[in-house]
Amino acid sequence: MSSLIDNPAWGPSARSDLRPRLQRFCDLLGIAGARLAQLDGARLDLLASAGSTASNLAQLDAATIIAGQTTIIADTHALGLSPACFYVGLLIPGTDAHRPYLLTLFDHRPRSANMAAHLASLAQEAVAQTMIERQRREIEQQKQTIADYAAVEEHRRDLFDRASATARIGIWQCNLADESLLWTNGVYDLFEIERNSVVTRQSTMALYTDTSRRQMEAARAAAIADCTDFSVDCEIITVTGKRRWMRLTGAVESRDGVAYRIFGMKQDITEEKLMTDRTRYLAEYDVMTGLANRSQFQTRLSLLDEGREVFGAMLLIDLDGFKQVNDTYGHALGDECLKEAAQRLVENCGDAQLVARIGGDEFAVLLPAEMVAADVQALAQRIVERIGRPFMRKGQRLTMGASVGVAQYRGGSSENLFRQADIALYAAKAAGRNTSRSYLADAA
Ligand code: GH3
Ligand code: MG
Repeated sequence: MSSLIDNPAWGPSARSDLRPRLQRFCDLLGIAGARLAQLDGARLDLLASAGSTASNLAQLDAATIIAGQTTIIADTHALGLSPACFYVGLLIPGTDAHRPYLLTLFDHRPRSANMAAHLASLAQEAVAQTMIERQRREIEQQKQTIADYAAVEEHRRDLFDRASATARIGIWQCNLADESLLWTNGVYDLFEIERNSVVTRQSTMALYTDTSRRQMEAARAAAIADCTDFSVDCEIITVTGKRRWMRLTGAVESRDGVAYRIFGMKQDITEEKLMTDRTRYLAEYDVMTGLANRSQFQTRLSLLDEGREVFGAMLLIDLDGFKQVNDTYGHALGDECLKEAAQRLVENCGDAQLVARIGGDEFAVLLPAEMVAADVQALAQRIVERIGRPFMRKGQRLTMGASVGVAQYRGGSSENLFRQADIALYAAKAAGRNTSRSYLADAA
């Protein structure tokens, strides 16, 4: 019986198999006929009928609809209505509250009041079971819809997480009233903090290096004050101790000109930063010795020409007989000598503005304006003496020598300064090497 109206969608196919169901209903209850109709405004649409019919049903159905409740009539003759004798009209709520169903059961024989009530309750029970079944299906359907929605959401979140992980990006938000933070997985991963754990601004700030923390706080404070955006590259140390570079961008949200929320992105730019640093290093430094290269040396000289930097003196240092060093010990040990010479130069030129390797075995030192000429010359001599000290490398006792040319800066172009230092160097070489000479004093 419960299968009578168990299809919530009363489509044409549902209608076609309603008739046998109604017929089964008639057989089970032992009645002559049954019909199912749907109320649509003032119209009653007949969906299906089974068994015989009776001419007074429309009248009885109208009475049921007007009463708005189950109507049980054990013997219609008592009401002067014929030919249907026994009548039950059941109103069944539809999925659309304004379009209820009417299930009509009738017979040509009257029933006792008890039997009529019994048959009506059987029918009601069948309908109630059907309703419960229908509700269960609706709930199942809703659950499925919610599950589908949750699955789509989950998929979307998963996609976002994977895209963020690939781009090494996370999103953050800080509520300015209480400084509470909200992070996506990407930010937790960046700091190597367990996902979804509670984080505070204070504990996060402790993971920035001092310089980066200062820069970040300054940029953030300025953005909050002006209600603008900001972007700053920061160095952090993750909770497991890894050094990372992070690009922090933020946008300030304000109400009536007062900032109340900041949010933005944090991106791991460690690799990009290392690459940029490496590229810059290669452009400005000599890989073998770690000293500034000729390009950086030239840049500093142009700053002198532009009046943006002043030097006191220039030293040019060239190793003596270095071809011979290479020939005697081999190129690899020759390299070791160059590194050693560079190291000794750095150790002895603490006050220098630049120590550079500007050629194969040629170095240059730019000294500050405050350094007096006597100190410059003393330094040149010390360099000759220090580079000349023998040293051990790979089981070999190595000895180098160096000649130094000195030029004091007394105005003019950097080109002129360089030429003077070169003349002085030539003079030192001509004087037998392993010595220093100054332009003006000795070489002019
Ligand atoms: P001088 O006393 O006149 O300076 O003579 P020198 O033998 O030092 O010759 P010079 O300064 O004219 O030439 C420098 C030599 O340094 C040439 C080359 O064989 C060597 N050299 C240049 N670059 C490198 C390098 O990167 N590694 C090594 N091992 N040798 C280099
Ligand atoms: Mg040389």
